[in-house]
Amino acid sequence: MSNVLAQPLSRLVMEMNESATIRMAQMSRDLKAQGHDVIDLSIGEPDFDTPAHIKEAAKKALDDGYTKYTPVPGLVELRQAIVEKFRRDNGLEFNINQIVVSNGAKQSIANLALALLDPGDEAVLFAPYWVSYSEIVKMAGGVPVPVYAGIEQDFKVTPEQVAEAITERTKFVLFSSPCNPTGSVYSKAELEAIAAVIAPHEHVFVISDEIYEYINFQGSHASIGAVPSVKDRTITVNGFAKGFAMTGWRLGYMGGPEFIAKACGKIQGQFTSGANSFGQKAAAHALLSDMAPSWQMRDEFLKRRELCIGLLEQIPGFKVNRPEGAFYIFPNISHYFGTTGGQTYVNNADDFCEYLLAEAHVGTVSGGAFGAENCFRISYAASEENLKKAIGRIAEAVSRLR
Ligand code: PMP
Ligand code: GLU
Repeated sequence: MSNVLAQPLSRLVMEMNESATIRMAQMSRDLKAQGHDVIDLSIGEPDFDTPAHIKEAAKKALDDGYTKYTPVPGLVELRQAIVEKFRRDNGLEFNINQIVVSNGAKQSIANLALALLDPGDEAVLFAPYWVSYSEIVKMAGGVPVPVYAGIEQDFKVTPEQVAEAITERTKFVLFSSPCNPTGSVYSKAELEAIAAVIAPHEHVFVISDEIYEYINFQGSHASIGAVPSVKDRTITVNGFAKGFAMTGWRLGYMGGPEFIAKACGKIQGQFTSGANSFGQKAAAHALLSDMAPSWQMRDEFLKRRELCIGLLEQIPGFKVNRPEGAFYIFPNISHYFGTTGGQTYVNNADDFCEYLLAEAHVGTVSGGAFGAENCFRISYAASEENLKKAIGRIAEAVSRLR
């Protein structure tokens, strides 16, 4: 009884880590609320508004009475648009029964983990990985198995590393390309080589998170689901948050084997039901309309990437890669471990980010939460003016580390 009172919360919640991206964004907001001039480069969220024609489509949907529950896997109209999008952009062939629309790509991934993992099943994660992968896997009872690639290999794992990580308990391999947090993009040839080592293991599925597909600076996006040897075992996840600047709309989706889509629908039917009705109408419109606003945002991100790399490379001790997609830069700052600034002893990337928030009033995210202890993440989804100011302040704060 006393134990229950001392610790009323579940083991699940006690053992999981809070989302570091969301925690750092909240810490930045709190500091701002205390009157400090904080520049928040922590959360990965486009600073652009949703394109007007998409907002108009949502308004019209509301006026047309799209205010009710929707089918759990999504409106037929949206699933048809997603089928069309997968064919047009990715060379993937699905029917609408293979598509499930969710409340964000985050829920698509959670549905998949719950649908596929039994206790003790392993999920191979290409590290650095997005913070929520490891925690979602753990919540579903699985065991995250990170495979690490450092900056010297452009943060991209090799097929040999993947081959070594696969065991009889491996249920799926999960990664994002373009990658959060590194911005690295796997080419078609690299994905084919990785598929070749997965293919012989028939019990292994691939979950390919392509939510940054439209923020790609090298021109062509490749989907591992289009590689014939793993196509029947690949689930492709995508969403509207990044490419269409629709983070707050909470809409994501997956396409994959029908029995997995059905399982995801079953889970979602007990947790949240279908995603919001009028948003889905607007999302269908977004997928099949003029993509020019998305390409404009991408071009803007590219300019900012150049600006940030130029400035970050000038900071002594920073090792910076050249990300080909998304809107993150992931410098290696291990040079500063073991230094002290004011009251702060910087022993790892967590300390480093706390130091930057406290001393430079710039919010960033530690690499620790992404499975990369030597790095920290900057989201450059901010104005050029703020980026210049923020990196200037980072450089100044870092120059005081001894
Ligand atoms: N995957 C990756 C790699 C992400 O960075 C994010 C964060 N937006 C998501 C999935 C979740 O996206 P959503 O906002 O659609 O839930
Ligand atoms: N995916 C974004 C990020 O990494 C949004 C926050 C989150 O859901 O993690 O910052």
